[in-house]
Amino acid sequence: MLRPAGLENGYFAMICLAYQIIRWTRPRAGIGLNRLNYDLHCHSSISDGVLSPALLVQRAAEKGVDVLALTDHDDVGGLGEAAQAAAAVGIGFVNGVEISVTWSGVTLHVVGLNIDAGNAMLQAGLADIQLGRRERAERIGLELGKHGIPGAFDGALRHAANPRMIGRTHFARFLIEQGVCKDVRSVFKKYLVRGRPGYVTHEWTALENAVAWIRAAGGQAVLAHPGRYDLKGKATRRLLGEFRELGGEGVEVVTGSHTPDQHALFAELANLYGLTASRGSDFHAPGEYGRELGGGPELPVKCTPIWHNWRLTSARRTRAASKTVPN
Ligand code: AMP
Ligand code: MN
Ligand code: MN
Ligand code: MN
Repeated sequence: MLRPAGLENGYFAMICLAYQIIRWTRPRAGIGLNRLNYDLHCHSSISDGVLSPALLVQRAAEKGVDVLALTDHDDVGGLGEAAQAAAAVGIGFVNGVEISVTWSGVTLHVVGLNIDAGNAMLQAGLADIQLGRRERAERIGLELGKHGIPGAFDGALRHAANPRMIGRTHFARFLIEQGVCKDVRSVFKKYLVRGRPGYVTHEWTALENAVAWIRAAGGQAVLAHPGRYDLKGKATRRLLGEFRELGGEGVEVVTGSHTPDQHALFAELANLYGLTASRGSDFHAPGEYGRELGGGPELPVKCTPIWHNWRLTSARRTRAASKTVPN
């Protein structure tokens, strides 16, 4: 570094030290100046996103994401392709998954980060959920048929690039294609939800299973978009307590479906329950649902980001971590 003329050695060293202290202690959550943009929740065509894993990663890089986790619903089949694409474009990549759960009669989503996608326990669990999805999709098709919409199961399957992972979004895209609704948002108002045509109940796996599989695969369990659940009164707090007890580590504070009030609320609750905070867009398709990749505010400064110790704890996190080391 060039030394400005006329400054004493000690004076210059002090300025350098102060500069380093500011860099080392600056809040790291989020994407401010000199910080990284972590997007730890998004979907490819391996679940209900529309972009292939490689195209998704390319788009993430274009949108300024520094570290991306691909978190397809109940399937890890896109992680290899996404990791390769991330290496090619030079962004950090984290193996993820979003597991469907039933807890106290309510559907929840649990994200696993830094998972070993080859773990046998995780793979067996996901295979079970996929069988359940298929059977549920057949029932959704029958229900829509009863309401005068024939061929929905086959139609939805045509929209599912991965036949193992068929979900309501594929039905939504079929209904749009048929001219029944104009967009995904209106489908989820008029169809496929409780009290509407095409709704069926379904028992997903238990919360303890999802957390156990993620942990068995060496990952960290994160409660996805807690503001979206149909939980009354103290149930959210009971859920956070139970999740922590089971070995859950984090909660999504900033996610595509949270309002600014919910960012503040879940930052508070994360701290109260000893959980770290995660940030993700829940991107599915350009202009469709969730945010754009990398979009949304920074984590509130009071949060401990789930990535705060990634460089210390896992070789698999080296890539992401190498970007977090101040230099
Ligand atoms: P499934 O896991 O098959 O029940 O589908 C859940 C998926 O449906 C979510 O991950 C979203 O992609 C989509 N979804 C749920 N609710 C809505 C909504 N209100 N608007 C748009 N998409 C939704
Ligand atoms: Mn989805
Ligand atoms: Mn979800
Ligand atoms: Mn999601």
